[in-house]
Order: sequence, then C-alpha cells, then structure tokens
Amino acid sequence: MRLLISNGYLVDPSQGQNSGKNLLIEDGRVRGLLDKSEGVPEGAEVLDATGLIVAPGFIDLHVHLREPGHEYKETIATGAAAAVAGGWSSVCAMPNTDPVNDSPAVTRFIIEQGERAGLANVFPIGSITKGSNGAELSEMGEMRQAGIVAVSDDGRPVPSAGMMRRAMEYARGFDLTVVDHCEDRTLCAGGAMHEGRWSLRLGLRGMPAAAEEMDAARDCTLAELTGARVHLAHVSTRGALAAVRRAKERGLKVTCEVAPHHWALFDEAVEGYDTNTKMSPPLRSRDHVAALLEGLSDGTIDAIATDHAPHHADEKALEYDQAPFGITGLETAVGLAFDRLVHEGTISLERLVELCSVNPARIFNLTDRGTLRRGAWGDVTILDPELQWTFDAARSKSKSRNTPFDGWTMRGAAVATIVAGRIVYRHPELGRQRDQAADGQTKREVINFSS
Ligand SMILES: [Zn+2]
Repeated sequence: MRLLISNGYLVDPSQGQNSGKNLLIEDGRVRGLLDKSEGVPEGAEVLDATGLIVAPGFIDLHVHLREPGHEYKETIATGAAAAVAGGWSSVCAMPNTDPVNDSPAVTRFIIEQGERAGLANVFPIGSITKGSNGAELSEMGEMRQAGIVAVSDDGRPVPSAGMMRRAMEYARGFDLTVVDHCEDRTLCAGGAMHEGRWSLRLGLRGMPAAAEEMDAARDCTLAELTGARVHLAHVSTRGALAAVRRAKERGLKVTCEVAPHHWALFDEAVEGYDTNTKMSPPLRSRDHVAALLEGLSDGTIDAIATDHAPHHADEKALEYDQAPFGITGLETAVGLAFDRLVHEGTISLERLVELCSVNPARIFNLTDRGTLRRGAWGDVTILDPELQWTFDAARSKSKSRNTPFDGWTMRGAAVATIVAGRIVYRHPELGRQRDQAADGQTKREVINFSS
C-alpha cells in the first residue's frame, strides 16, 4: 500500500524540514521525502496537496472519550471521528471513565475500541490512584504492559503531597509521565468560574488562580525531589506558568500544555451565563491570558491539547453553578490556533507543528510519531492556512455539542488527516482549494508563512 502526498509544502521541525517535497508512505510507514521531479512511484495513490502544508500527524495529549460508562456523551468511535475531522491523527484518552482506567482490562478495552473505530490512534492514559480517589496507587506496571502511555487522575487533583511523591517515584520506575491536574480543592470548593472582578459582578463563587498555582508549585518541587517526568495539564494562570519556567531553568523534566479556550476566551465570556463557558480550570482574566500567549511564544508551553470534554445537552442545561465542567474541542483547536496564534503573529507555523505534534510525541515517549523521518509511522496532518470556515456545532462528529465556539469563523484548518498511510479524513473543500491554488497564488502565500 503506497500513498504519495504530492506538491505540498512540508513542515517538519523534528528534522529541520521546511521545503517543497513529496512524501511517500508505504505499508503504514514513511518511506521517504522525494523531490517533485521524481514522479509518482508505481501503484501509489496520490493525494494532491498543492498550496497546502504537510505536517507530522497532530497528537492531542488530553481528551475525554467517555467510553466505557458514559456512551451517551461520547464513544471512542465518535470521539475518534471528531479527532480526525479536527486534524488529530492521535488522541490520548484520560482515565476518568466508568470504570476508571485503573486496570489492564480497561486499558485493553480502550485500545480495542480505538482499533475497531479505525480512525485516530487512541492511546489510553491510566489512573494514578485506584478509582482516581487519591487513596491507593494503581497498578501502573500492568497497565504499562497493556499499553498506557502516561498516568493521570485528571478531573481531580492528587490531594496530598505525600501521595503525589509516591506516585511520581512509582511512575518513574515504569518510565511513565505523570500528568498533573493542578487544583487545590480547599480553595475551589463550590466555585464555578475564575475568582476576580467578573465573579463578583456575576454573583458566582470563584476559583482563585492560587488554587492552580499552589499545586503547580508543589508538583514542580516534587519533580525535583523524585526526578520524575511531570506534565502539567491545561495550564491557565501566570503563576503556574512561572512555576514551569523555573522548573525548566533548573533542568527538571517538567512540561506543560495549554487548551485553546484558555487563550481564545476571557472570564468575561461568562457574562451571559452560558454553561459552555464553564470548565476547570476556568476561563481566566486578561492578565493570565496575556501570560499564556507569552508562554506559547517563548517556548515555556510545550503543547496545545484540547481537554475535549463532551457532556449531554441536558446536563449543560442546568443552572451555571450546577452544570458540569468542560467543553468539546477536537474540531476547533487547529482553526483557533491558526486564527488566533499564527495569523496574529504570536507563533510561527513551525512552532504550531511543534506544539501539536513534535512535542506531544516527546512528552509521552510515542516512538516514531511527531516526525516524518524515514521509518516513522505514516501519520500526517494536512493544513490549509488560508481556508475560511465557520464551525457549525450541529454538524460536529462528536456526540455532544457543548462548545462556546459554535458559529465562529476562523482562517486556517486541517483539511486531511492520514493515519498509517490511510486517509481517514478529507475536508469537503479539499478539491476546491486545490483548483484555486492552480494559479500559484495560494502556494506563494504559504511559503511566506513559514518565514
Ligand atoms: Zn483536568
């Protein structure tokens, strides 16, 4: 089985590639980068990427697929469909399902359901503690053998420093990254939004930035004590980012991710009490968002991850303080990143590919991914930086519709997703764009982009 992605512009920071090359995938793996003059190898299917960016497949480190247990919100198959429609060739599934992924049986089930869906690669994350209840460590070694790629109690913090220390020491023994949901619950109890001017004005109980920052500082300190690999999930405050920056300066194995809603929206978006603006950590004030943009630009932030968290419409229809936390995000992340980060000049196109592919592969040790080197998996995300499109939540591939981005128009999108050499998603506009690009106009713009 051969696939030639021809006439595209290849952006692969893992090997310093930034050039017009054809990409050949054979039997699921990258066979090599070919000069355009070399023509089409015998028997190869051709995907014409004229005017488009060809990047190593995007990897989302943080999704909630809800299966097993909450299939009315999402299944692994519907989540994977939303993933590839958003440009993600791989997703890492958080363990807060029912039952929690704290055993090899659940791990294997998730992997099998992912394979059955045959869309994105689905990599399970095991829980840190049994039932994610913070009391007793999970069987990380057995889950590691079954296929987990990291451990986390995401959705809940690990409540005590003592337990987190033991978790880090244990995870380190299995070479597993600990993914950290930073939230001091004694400061956040009953909170529905960021604590500040807007929470006072709207009469909602606040979740102070300090709640995230205290845990971030604690766990960076524990990363130094234990030598473990620690990844801070959905960083949303200036102080948490400062903790990561200090840890990196000290040479610790600390990384972090940011979710698109945390830099695309401010806490004042809660003003209409739309429960699709409620998530944990909450939307922050302008000063925190400015800090996140600095962190994206200066390299402190390693990855963009969606924290895709589907909920049924009936659940989100509750009063603001009663509604569950979380929004969907798989189909809007890449568009938001182009529109709000790349086109605004905050980050370059290469940096976008690092944040969504190269770095995520490194953070979870996903071998032969996040790169288009010869022999790597043939996972590819094809991007159109100029495509203008409007997100219509009613047409989402996800089972749930809880998004604050319904009706948003964005410039830039993923237009095809390829997993192990198989085209698993093709944007309806893909052919039309190619025709427009025939005059060379789009292509020239694309090349200017990467400078
Ligand atoms: Zn979380």
